[in-house]
Amino acid sequence: MRMRRRFPKKNKVSYLQTIPRELTTHILSRVAASSAADLSSIKQSCQELREIAEDSYVYQHASLDKFPIVEWSPICEKKQKFLNKCKESSNPEIWYREALLDFFNKKDYALALRKFSKAAEAGHVQALYLCCIMMLLSGNQRRGVGMIAKIKKDGIRVGLCCRKLIEELRQIWVLNPLLSQSRLLCSKHHNRYRPRTNNWSGEEYEDEDEDDCTTCVAARHIKLICACSHL
Ligand SMILES: [Zn+2]
Repeated sequence: MRMRRRFPKKNKVSYLQTIPRELTTHILSRVAASSAADLSSIKQSCQELREIAEDSYVYQHASLDKFPIVEWSPICEKKQKFLNKCKESSNPEIWYREALLDFFNKKDYALALRKFSKAAEAGHVQALYLCCIMMLLSGNQRRGVGMIAKIKKDGIRVGLCCRKLIEELRQIWVLNPLLSQSRLLCSKHHNRYRPRTNNWSGEEYEDEDEDDCTTCVAARHIKLICACSHL
């Protein structure tokens, strides 16, 4: 029979204690940005991670993808607590969602612009796109087209932003009368990018970003967004 060698017991040090806390916090923030459900699972795995996951930096970066923009029925205490913590931690997605409702539902232009700008300054790309759209819808078309051109140049896929916005508008009551009035036409009489229908296919969103006339792109987006109005 083979004998096992016995080693003296050492003081146990958890692997987590060997990693700088800032690094663990950063890793957890990346997990939270990808999936709030995964973060919740990690928090249940050990006390140490649970404590680190309570850092406001983690809540600031948490994804809200699994939460609808408007809750039509009361949500459980755990979810409400999570959303409250995200708001307290200045999660830009919270500002963005509030601004969406402020503008498209409550028609409060000034408040919406403040929140979209705040979210955009925190790196929220979709909020930056919404600043352009608000500019276009409020009649400041020259400036709005200029802003769209700039963010396109900076590499933002405005077609994908538009698709995301339309999906979001389908979740809320769009009651802003600006959407009933707003029309934008390209003075260069381009017609290549005139929308064929109000239902834009994914491929068309992908195709339009590169070299298209920005005014035509903006006109197309405005037409699709206005079609979401409930007025
Ligand atoms: Zn054009």
